[in-house]
Amino acid sequence: MMKRILITGGAGFIGSHLCEKLLREGNEVICVDNFFTGSKENIIHLMGNPRFELVRHDVVSPFYAEVDEIYNLACPASPVHYQYNGIKTIKTSVMGAINMLGLAKRTHAKVLQASTSEVYGDPRIHPQPESYWGYVNPTGVRSCYDEGKRCAESLFMNYHRQNGVRIKIIRIFNTYGPKMHPNDGRVVSNFIVQALQGKDITIYGDGSQTRSFQYVDDLLDGMIRLMNTPDSFTGPVNVGNPDEFTIQQLAETVIRLTGSKSKLTYLPLPQDDPVQRKPDITLAEKELGWTPTVPLEEGLKKTIRYFKTKLELESFNTLNHTLND
Ligand code: NAD
Ligand code: UDP
Repeated sequence: MMKRILITGGAGFIGSHLCEKLLREGNEVICVDNFFTGSKENIIHLMGNPRFELVRHDVVSPFYAEVDEIYNLACPASPVHYQYNGIKTIKTSVMGAINMLGLAKRTHAKVLQASTSEVYGDPRIHPQPESYWGYVNPTGVRSCYDEGKRCAESLFMNYHRQNGVRIKIIRIFNTYGPKMHPNDGRVVSNFIVQALQGKDITIYGDGSQTRSFQYVDDLLDGMIRLMNTPDSFTGPVNVGNPDEFTIQQLAETVIRLTGSKSKLTYLPLPQDDPVQRKPDITLAEKELGWTPTVPLEEGLKKTIRYFKTKLELESFNTLNHTLND
């Protein structure tokens, strides 16, 4: 049955893939975005579709529409961008959640919150199960994001308990893929763009910190499965790829796959940078029947291909402008 689905942050990296997929499945999609880190370029090809609607709107203000489902993704996700205006990041997470929960309460829509592995902070338990309460610095530079997302989870649970709102909380672990912004600032896009441009690969710290990288298609599959679970299952549920790599290993893999001559350079480690991160996905396997299928090298190859085309196109356009000026 065709549903009307609202996606906040729909012009961003994950949101734009989700718009595409839910349209392909025959739904109506309303994409809401303020274009802070997202761009029209990500969704321009959907504009001719009569089942697609784009609204420039900031989720800090209430939004009115009649919808069946809401995916609440609006929030900058890269440390560089969420720390640019920390107060705004907190407002987006907290007021955005309140506004979407209010909308869900009025329309009886199901609402899914894009939460994050950052709720575990710099974890003292490894890998991280959902039952772990985390180790978060409540006042540090990452707190605008971490505590904003933790507060949003609390709001979701309170609206569920108090008002019976149908909620789903997904804790997303590091996700990468095509349509990340070249200046996004996160590690996978940084390393690929640097390697393709022959620039130094910027490793923060000594590169021994770990992350577990999930390809975007796997995430979308987990997210939609979660939305379709019975109302009794709210999460939170981890969705991520448990294959763990050091940042040094990631840099070496990107250099090998791009055939780049880039050198590695070591820069200071940002404050409160988590030492290790890896999801325990037992719950997702059981409740969603979900397991990731795309290994790192395969996902990296697809992402490298995307950036290669994008960078070539950009340099062609720049050249064209120069010649025409
Ligand atoms: P992104 O920065 O590409 O997308 C975020 C989108 O939200 C952008 O289009 C941005 O313009 C929009 N946005 C930001 N503030 C807004 C506001 N106030 N009102 C309306 N729109 C606003 O990041 P992404 O990687 O696509 O992340 C999407 C969601 O998934 C975020 O909520 C993020 O916290 C969560 N998440 C992502 C990852 C990951 O590794 N990519 C991991 C954990 C959680
Ligand atoms: N990182 C790095 N070089 C970069 C960008 C990031 O070494 O150019 C490191 C960062 O310090 C962290 C890891 O890569 O340890 C992942 O960073 P990212 O910003 O992608 O996401 P995080 O998981 O920290 O939110």
